Order: sequence, then structure tokens, then C-alpha cells
Amino acid sequence: SQVPVLTIDGPGGAGKGTICQMVAKKLKWHLLDSGALYRLTALAAQKHDVELDNEESVAVLAKCLDVQFLPQEEGLVNTILEGEDVSQAIRTEEAGNLASQVAAMPAVRQALLERQRDFAQAPGVVADGRDMGTVVFPDAPVKIYLTASAEERAKRRFLQLQEKGVDADIEKILMDIQARDERDMNREVAPLRPAEDALVVESTNMSIEQVLDVVITELESKN
Ligand code: C5P
Repeated sequence: SQVPVLTIDGPGGAGKGTICQMVAKKLKWHLLDSGALYRLTALAAQKHDVELDNEESVAVLAKCLDVQFLPQEEGLVNTILEGEDVSQAIRTEEAGNLASQVAAMPAVRQALLERQRDFAQAPGVVADGRDMGTVVFPDAPVKIYLTASAEERAKRRFLQLQEKGVDADIEKILMDIQARDERDMNREVAPLRPAEDALVVESTNMSIEQVLDVVITELESKN
């Protein structure tokens, strides 16, 4: 397709979600939150009592996901799964961990491929995930790989939760992040890694504004 695509991949907690939202809003482009699709698949499996080791059945659920993303103010979206608002439920650590389990299944990734590519609509799409630049949009003209140390990512998560008034244990968050990295980087299909032509942004010592600046500069340089 000729629709411009900006891919932003990287490990959890690096700030991809925030950056993608900001860029999409600034450019008035569509936003693909691919992690949400894996989270939704995991929730659908729970809801329908499908065991997570039953790859074929989980893939069927992924293929048939009945989901709506309803835009709200401030770039937020309400996520509706089979008529039920799951905007909060998909954001829990548990949903993230389950998502990374279903995401390791080739049939599930295959089932979600087309749905993800359908997000490439004019005037453009910002794609947030783990394999946006390597698998889903290999021809994207601009690819970013956004990362930060595990300790820094744990700290950012922790502060984010604190801000929301949620009790959190930073050591536990760090362990979850490390476990998720391990699984995402070492799986056989679409392991987390930078695309060969991606700009790697190591953001441990960068502010959100600085990261945003690098992304926008990179986009403009390719235009
Ligand atoms: O980004 P988010 O934390 O929402 O992703 C949840 C999980 O979904 C990740 O840990 C990863 O295992 C999986 N995922 C993936 N490929 C993507 C996006 C997410 O495997 N493109």
C-alpha cells in the first residue's frame, strides 16, 4: 500500500504507547496498538474458557475477535470486546503476561496479521508493537526501535501506576518486565528485535519530549 506507515517497536515499558499516541495525534494519523490485539485475544480466551495451550482454538478466537475501538477525547480509546468495555481489563499486568503467552503462538500471530495491516489507511498509520517493522509492515519507510534499560522501564511503569493511585511493587514490576522481555525476544516467531533499517533510540536518559523530537525529525528526514 502507498499509505505512509511509521513503525515503533520495542520492549514493554519503553514509552512506545505514549510516543505513538502523541505522534498520531500530531499528524492526525491512525494508531495501531497491536499489543491490544494480543491482550484482547488473551481476554477472549479467558472469557470463553479456552485453554491457552490450545493454539488452534486461540487462533480462531484471534481471527474472529469482535472488537471495537471507540475514540474518546484526548486521543484515548474505549475498547469494546463482544459488547463489553474492557478498556481497563486489557491494561492489567496479568493481561499483559497472558498476551505474551498467546503472542508466542504462530497461528495466533498469523490470525492477527491481516487485521493489523487493515489499519494502514490514509492519511497514515503509526504502528506500535514488537514486530511492526520486521513482519507486519516490512516496507514501512520509517522504523523506530525504542528501548531503555529494564530498570528504567520498571521505574516508568511504577511512576505511571503511582500517578493513577495504584499500589505497586517496583521489584515485582522489574521481574515481570524481565520475564516478558525474555519471552518476547526468544520466541521462534517474530521475536522482538530491531528491523535492519530501524533507527534504534536508546531512551534510558531521554525525556518523552526528546524522544518525540527524534521521531519527528526522523519522519521529516524521510519525506
Ligand atoms: O505492548 P503490550 O504490552 O500491550 O503487548 C503485550 C504483549 O503482546 C507483549 O508482551 C508481546 O508478547 C505481545 N505483542 C507481540 N507483538 C506485537 C505487540 C505485542 O508479540 N506486535
